[in-house]
Amino acid sequence: MPDVHQVVILGSGPAGLTAAIYTARANLSPFVVEGEPSSTSDQPGGQLMLTTDVENYPGFVDGIIGPELMTRFRDQAARFGATFATRKAQRVDFTSRPFRIWTHTADGEPDVEARAVIVASGARSIMLGVPGEDRLLGHGVSTCATCDGFFFRDKSIVVVGGGDSALEEAIFLTRFGDSVTVIHRRKSLRASKIMQDRAFANDKIQFRWDTVVNEVIGEDKVTAVSVTNVLSGEEDVIKAHGVFVAIGHEPNTAIFAGQLELDDRGYIRTREGTRTNVEGVFAAGDVQDHVYRQAVTAAGSGCMAAIDAERWLEAQSHG
Ligand code: NAP
Repeated sequence: MPDVHQVVILGSGPAGLTAAIYTARANLSPFVVEGEPSSTSDQPGGQLMLTTDVENYPGFVDGIIGPELMTRFRDQAARFGATFATRKAQRVDFTSRPFRIWTHTADGEPDVEARAVIVASGARSIMLGVPGEDRLLGHGVSTCATCDGFFFRDKSIVVVGGGDSALEEAIFLTRFGDSVTVIHRRKSLRASKIMQDRAFANDKIQFRWDTVVNEVIGEDKVTAVSVTNVLSGEEDVIKAHGVFVAIGHEPNTAIFAGQLELDDRGYIRTREGTRTNVEGVFAAGDVQDHVYRQAVTAAGSGCMAAIDAERWLEAQSHG
């Protein structure tokens, strides 16, 4: 029989590791299912492992490299007694107590059991999947203007997408870049009217309509993107130092469907802080937040989930 942990944390980005620090310091010996190194969406450390400099995390005056920040979070959690499994949850059963989690295979008996669970499995940016994109991620390819816009001062930038995220990123990036080109696969934008009006009124923003990106070009860093006009078939190369992919995000919630209440986009619904619809299961970070999506807000909600879980366990022990 597997050991029954007081708290199991699924995910090891800023939310999961902050929850680990807090629950460890509350003597709950958290067990963190941290993800798989081979994966690009469920890797230990979460989305910050895919970024270079993080300059907006408070306390680091000169910035810090994303993976280093996450190593520090992890070391801090380990120092207080958190333990880790470098695997990902394949299946969960939140219908019986203790909660059951399968981390080796989805078949057979579960190998992890928990009195309380904090789900912090994050979200991933949907990527284009074109050549060069993966290789140049963090070297000109980015999915976060708030995080990386600053590195493109007076540079040429492209933003891919036609929704609110793309226009929000494009408008934000005009603070830095000398030009921002929005590449959209259709002629009409999906973004809200107000965002469209703002983008159209901004002199620094141009649009390439009916256009798809074929490749991100560059040796060590991005220098251009090659594109095709889907109507004419005409190919072109657009000079760019930064490529911001903003075609949407998806939460890592597939294994919770049918057990945790999800919103229409698949994010976990939380109430009264970080509670889910299952008592004893809490959710923190990007898996339940599609609005802020910052390391610092994820860390904050990880702290909230730890406190919520600790109080819930305490109440159970008196129940
Ligand atoms: P979204 O609304 O789903 O838009 C995604 C955009 O990317 C669409 O224009 C889509 O094109 C394009 N796209 C999708 N897959 C693509 C591909 N493989 N190649 C090229 N283009 C692709 O996503 P979002 O912009 O991230 O917004 C998500 C939600 O958050 C929305 O409800 C949005 O309103 C909300 N949001 C609100 C704000 C705000 O109010 N300030 C800011 C950000 C997000 P098509 O149009 O052709 O499908």
